Amino acid sequence: MAKSVTLYPLGVGDAFTARHFFVNCLINVDGREFFIDCPAYLGKMFHYNNENGEQQLELNRYRELFITHMHADHVGGLEELAYFQYYKTENPVKLYGPDWLLQDIWSHLRPALEPSVREGGGLANFDWFFDPVPIDHFHDFGDFKVSYTYTRHVPRTLAFKFDFGNFKLGYAPDTGFDHNLIAWLNECDLIIHDAWFGETEALGGNIRNLHTPIADLLTLPEDFQRKTLLCHYADTAYSDSTENPSEEIGAYRLLQQGKVYKLV
Ligand SMILES: [Zn+2]
Repeated sequence: MAKSVTLYPLGVGDAFTARHFFVNCLINVDGREFFIDCPAYLGKMFHYNNENGEQQLELNRYRELFITHMHADHVGGLEELAYFQYYKTENPVKLYGPDWLLQDIWSHLRPALEPSVREGGGLANFDWFFDPVPIDHFHDFGDFKVSYTYTRHVPRTLAFKFDFGNFKLGYAPDTGFDHNLIAWLNECDLIIHDAWFGETEALGGNIRNLHTPIADLLTLPEDFQRKTLLCHYADTAYSDSTENPSEEIGAYRLLQQGKVYKLV
């Protein structure tokens, strides 16, 4: 059972945000740090965080990382991170996900990372940069346990559930409205969930297939709303303060970038 757990959002915005960084978080479990997702411009994100956030961070804190899916706003920083760790740290970053996701990540990075950066040539391998650790639907990390399920987004997008023994955190940053997922998350004490503000008809199709409109979230019971923080929100989600959302959001609250959430 974990004695101390904090959640620290480094980004909260949707894929088009100019106001925030893309959704990604740091979880600290008794001093052991896990990041979830890795958007691009890591250096700028950390610099901004260190000027504005409640907690100071350095890039070498990336030692263990979960990935939810392959959209750029969630994995666009992996190449930056790979080179950072290769040149500036001793050990590859542990990368957690299903085996197929780890293979997809290397397929994605390979054209950029494989040409050798070592004297004498030779092709680089994934394990020069990352220590890929395949995890099953349920994985025991000792102080806590992690499980995942698939969300209604693009195929093979994951939602995670972290069980710290005395507190459960649900994490679904990109998902359409999905009653099965809501039921899976509902046992959690705190839930981080996708929210869509504004029009749901877009040029590319119905947004409901990818994200969850506020109107759908408001159909859920108040006890679910009270324990759920909304993320992946538009720049227009609030004007001056996250306490003043631009639309009625019931008992939900907006997840805040650069704020320490003490869970345990
Ligand atoms: Zn996505």
